[in-house]
Amino acid sequence: MKMRSVLLKEVMPFLVVGILIVTHVQDITAQNLLHISTRVHLQEREVTVTVYYDEGEEAWAQHLFDVTVEALPILEELAGFPYPHGFDVEIYPKSEEEMSFFGGENLSGRGIWINRDTFTPETMKDLYVADTVIHESAHYWSDDLIYGKPWMKEGFCELLTYLTYQEMGREKDALHVKNEWSRTFTVYKIYNHPLDTFEYPEYGPGDEKTSLAYGKSALFCYEIYENCGLERIKKINEYLYQNHISADSFTYMNLLEEYSGEDQKEFFMEWIFPEKVDLEKWQKAENAIHQLEELTDGSLSYIEEKWGFHKVMDFVEFQIHVSTQINVAQSYMKEYDFEKALQIITEEIEEVNKMMSEFDGYAEQYFEAEEYYKSLNVVGEICEDKLIAAKERLLCFKYDDTEILYHSIPHRCPGTACVWPVRLVVSVSFQCITHASTAFFMTAAEIRTVFAGPIQDCRWGRVCKF
Ligand SMILES: [Zn+2]
Repeated sequence: MKMRSVLLKEVMPFLVVGILIVTHVQDITAQNLLHISTRVHLQEREVTVTVYYDEGEEAWAQHLFDVTVEALPILEELAGFPYPHGFDVEIYPKSEEEMSFFGGENLSGRGIWINRDTFTPETMKDLYVADTVIHESAHYWSDDLIYGKPWMKEGFCELLTYLTYQEMGREKDALHVKNEWSRTFTVYKIYNHPLDTFEYPEYGPGDEKTSLAYGKSALFCYEIYENCGLERIKKINEYLYQNHISADSFTYMNLLEEYSGEDQKEFFMEWIFPEKVDLEKWQKAENAIHQLEELTDGSLSYIEEKWGFHKVMDFVEFQIHVSTQINVAQSYMKEYDFEKALQIITEEIEEVNKMMSEFDGYAEQYFEAEEYYKSLNVVGEICEDKLIAAKERLLCFKYDDTEILYHSIPHRCPGTACVWPVRLVVSVSFQCITHASTAFFMTAAEIRTVFAGPIQDCRWGRVCKF
């Protein structure tokens, strides 16, 4: 407990910030609480803002309420895209225990939790509870939806807090926020580490390294703001949001290069990436992943266009397999092992190409068989059933050599005087009707042998692929 209280004191600046916790589980948290509520007009919807509070603490709630109601439309404008959630904004007072020593938490659909034991009605203004509630509200735009790394989520939240204060005309508070970043960065400089390696602590507000990361993230995002301007940050956010991209550091760097027209590598190497990172190899691996994704996405429409199959069964399974492999590669990339990632993806690209070319081969055989059976006047039920079965297997990517051959084999009897068709007898055996007297039975394997032999000029040869 002692350690915790020491820690509490040391990491106070970011205890009042908290983290972003994403969950969509609704619970009953408002029991026995009073509330104040209003509707706020945002760009694409009206959001109800409700602040819950304990009896006798209306002033506590009113303070948070006023800040939040004023901040939300500003945050939306600064973020560059409309409030993206289907739920309303709810703010709850919580005990220190419930908050695991955080000052504030954004629990997505479960609302924003404010540490009522830290921010008492008496101390809340001195401890800048407004910073916390603006920061947590900013997480509605600065979350997993567009940012895949904690430094982006926290850094941009802090930048938005700073800019929101400015928009509110509260220059002094804005400056206070900014000064806190520098102060934290200086105090914890000894724990400096590349921001790409910043991960949220599993429990509680974390240690000095976490505090450093929060301050450093904010300073870095402020640098981006200073160098590239808010409009570009907004455009990038909008792009990420509209394209459902949760950017990692590398993606964000590339977007920043694209939108600013300036090389950002040195800047990112200084703040974000560890020294050992080879950005060229990273790019190569990223390109390969992109190629694989396009190949996979395009394969379904290729099959549709080329073969007219509108429903490819088990295609989801195929896509899951590919995306699992991509995940494996990406986990290597997180360790900055780009060569291993590239190897996995390259093998997968080869595999997909091979699979698609096999599909073409088998699809061709299937359609030849189908055409043949359709041309027969004596199409039996067995043929129909087998065709359906073969098609199913084809569309499941479960090619069965015997089955496919089974359908494409008995096109013609090899005897020159034969009157076809060949009649299906049982399983993979066939009998030529005309030559029945010669007991001409064959299995698929036997046909293979026969064809290699004396009857190569037979009309079978044209259609049989073995
Ligand atoms: Zn946060």
